[in-house]
Amino acid sequence: MRIVVTGASGFLGSHFCDRLLAEGHAVVGIDNLITGNRANLAHISGEPRFEWLEADICQPFAVSGPVDALADFASPASPVDYARLPLETLQVGSFGVFHCLELAREKRAVFLLSSTSECYGDPEVHPQREDYWGHVNPIGPRSCYDESKRFAEALTVAYHRVHNQPVRIARIFNTYGPRMRLDDGRVVPQLIGQALRGEALTVYGDGSQTRSFCYVDDLIEGLYRLLISQETGPVNLGNPTETTILEFARLIQALSGGHSPIVFRPLPADDPRRRCPDISLARRRLDWQPRITLQDGLSCSWDYFESALRAASGQSRHAPG
Ligand code: UDP
Repeated sequence: MRIVVTGASGFLGSHFCDRLLAEGHAVVGIDNLITGNRANLAHISGEPRFEWLEADICQPFAVSGPVDALADFASPASPVDYARLPLETLQVGSFGVFHCLELAREKRAVFLLSSTSECYGDPEVHPQREDYWGHVNPIGPRSCYDESKRFAEALTVAYHRVHNQPVRIARIFNTYGPRMRLDDGRVVPQLIGQALRGEALTVYGDGSQTRSFCYVDDLIEGLYRLLISQETGPVNLGNPTETTILEFARLIQALSGGHSPIVFRPLPADDPRRRCPDISLARRRLDWQPRITLQDGLSCSWDYFESALRAASGQSRHAPG
C-alpha cells in the first residue's frame, strides 16, 4: 500500500511510519513541524519508500499518485502544547481533518483518525468504554483539544455516513516511549527529565489521580491492526493497568536510585481524576492487548531520555551567546 501519514515527524506519527515501512508499504510523511521534529525521521530520510512533504494540513493539500490509506496524527497533543496553541489545535482537528477526509475520498483511501481518551473528559464511568459519551468542559483549558478531537470524530463518521467513506477511529490513551519531547510537559518525560537532572519530581495535586500508561510499541501494534481491519470504531487503544500519579512518581524515583524528592504542586484545572481504558472491543475485534509492563517500558525509554537530555545540554552549552 501507499499510505499518507500526517503528523509524521511527531511521537506517534514517526513510529507509525516506521511500522508501515517495516511492513513493506510506501509512506508519504506530512508535517508542518509545529510540535514535531525532523530528527524523528532522520533514520528513514534515505529510504526510497519514504517521501517527505512539509505542509500545513489546515490548508488544502495535494498528494500526487495513488493513495490507499491516510493516517492522521497531526495535532498538538500534550496539555502544555495545546494550552500554548489552542487555535492551531482547533484548526487541525477541524479544517485539517476535513482536508484529510477530502483527500481520502478523492483517492478512495481508508481514513484512520487518531482520536483520544480526552473525548471522555473527566469521566464519570470507569473504566471507559467506547459507548460512554464523556464528561467534557466545552470552555475549560483542555477544551481546545477535547472538542477538536470530538469534532474530528463527528466529521469522520459524517463522511462515513454520507459518502460511505471507509474510516477507522482509534481512541488513544496515555502513551509513552522514545521520541517524546523532554519538554512537552507530559508526566512521563517531565518526571524522567527531572530525575535525570537530579531535580525534585513534581506531582500535581495529591497524586491520587490515575492514568494508564501504554508503551509506544504496543500502541503502534494496535493502530496497525485497526488500520488493516474492517472496524470503523471508535476503538479504545491503551493499557488497562491503572496507576496513581503518586505511585508513578515513586516508580520513577526508584528507577533513578531514589535520590529525587517528590514535591506537590497545584492540580491544573479540569485535570481528569481517573482514566483507564476498557479494551474488550480491541481484544475481541483486533485480537490485541498490550504486552509490555510499565517497568519494562520505562527502562526502554530511560536510555532515550538520557541521550536526549545529553544532546539538549550539549546544544545549550554550545549555543551562541
Ligand atoms: N502531572 C504531574 N506532574 C507533572 C506533569 C503531570 O503530576 O509534572 C500529572 C497531571 O496533572 C495529570 C497526569 O500527571 O494528572 C498526566 O498528565 P499528562 O500531562 O501526562 O497527560 P494527561 O493525561 O493529563 O493528558
